Amino acid sequence: MARQRELGRGERVLPGLWRLRLPLPWPPVPHCNAWAIAASDGIVLVDTGMHEPGSMAQLERAMDQVGLQLDQVRLLVCTHAHSDHWGQAAPIRDRTGCQFWMHRRPELPDDANGGGERRSAIARRIEIGRQSGVPEAAIDAFVERTKDMPSGVAREIEPDLELVPGVEIETELGTWTVHETPGHTPSHVCLFQAERRLLISGDHVLGRISLFFDYGYTPDPVAEFLTSLDRVDRLDARLALSGHGKPFVDVHGHIEGNRKLVHERMEATLAALAAAGPRTALEIAPDIYGETISFHNGAWLLTQTLCYLHHLERDGRARKDPDGGGERWSSV
Ligand SMILES: [Zn+2]
Ligand SMILES: [Zn+2]
Repeated sequence: MARQRELGRGERVLPGLWRLRLPLPWPPVPHCNAWAIAASDGIVLVDTGMHEPGSMAQLERAMDQVGLQLDQVRLLVCTHAHSDHWGQAAPIRDRTGCQFWMHRRPELPDDANGGGERRSAIARRIEIGRQSGVPEAAIDAFVERTKDMPSGVAREIEPDLELVPGVEIETELGTWTVHETPGHTPSHVCLFQAERRLLISGDHVLGRISLFFDYGYTPDPVAEFLTSLDRVDRLDARLALSGHGKPFVDVHGHIEGNRKLVHERMEATLAALAAAGPRTALEIAPDIYGETISFHNGAWLLTQTLCYLHHLERDGRARKDPDGGGERWSSV
């Protein structure tokens, strides 16, 4: 039976700041947020929602509910290059002629920056499966089931400006500054409005604590994420507007919750390694997460497990078994 899809919805958070809640086709993550901010000459839009059939109409529906129009957008900024945050950048810019600002890391592969060919994204997933010890037949089945899934990105476009520290975004709520927060993705940024202590946190810090790290682009995304948490904590934000879920207060408490969960996951990883001889990521993941690994959660959980293993290896607390084909791990 087809699942009832949500519809785009808009709501005012503060005078001059609106949450645009946009549907996603992913059952565990049914929606994402874009944020509209009033500016002197129109609207600054932060993030876009994913591109799929009807997705521009969902964005327009959400804007219409709060009395805004897409044509008012004069600047689009994106927190990071996941499809649910920048997938509609091209059609929004085509439609409005707005400026488009985003941070990319040109030294990294195209797919780290939200682009690249579908086959390179699939190749990366195959590599994650192999490094995790997933049997070849299961990898083949996964590829067969996912190879025709759309990317969620309408078209790759180049930003007009690199969204990096020093860039300022002028709005009626004041000036927003840019803060690099790699970890969730290598080029993730958060935006901060200092006088009001407002943080647009993207997927770096969410209201319902949930961790994800892009694997394979940088040596240690977990370490980057922890450093980024410290950086954002120092901003002392009062209200966070995140990429998914409702706005939330107690930003420091949420940051602390993220730190705690990372450390719990690493301890669970070490405990799982200590429980038996050299083991693969696939073998230890059920012990870490308390879930069996399936087609549905495998890519998500194995990606994170590999990130923890590499972080522990760099810390000297785990090592790859030299006889395990590079895939089996032990605690040190
Ligand atoms: Zn993301
Ligand atoms: Zn997201």
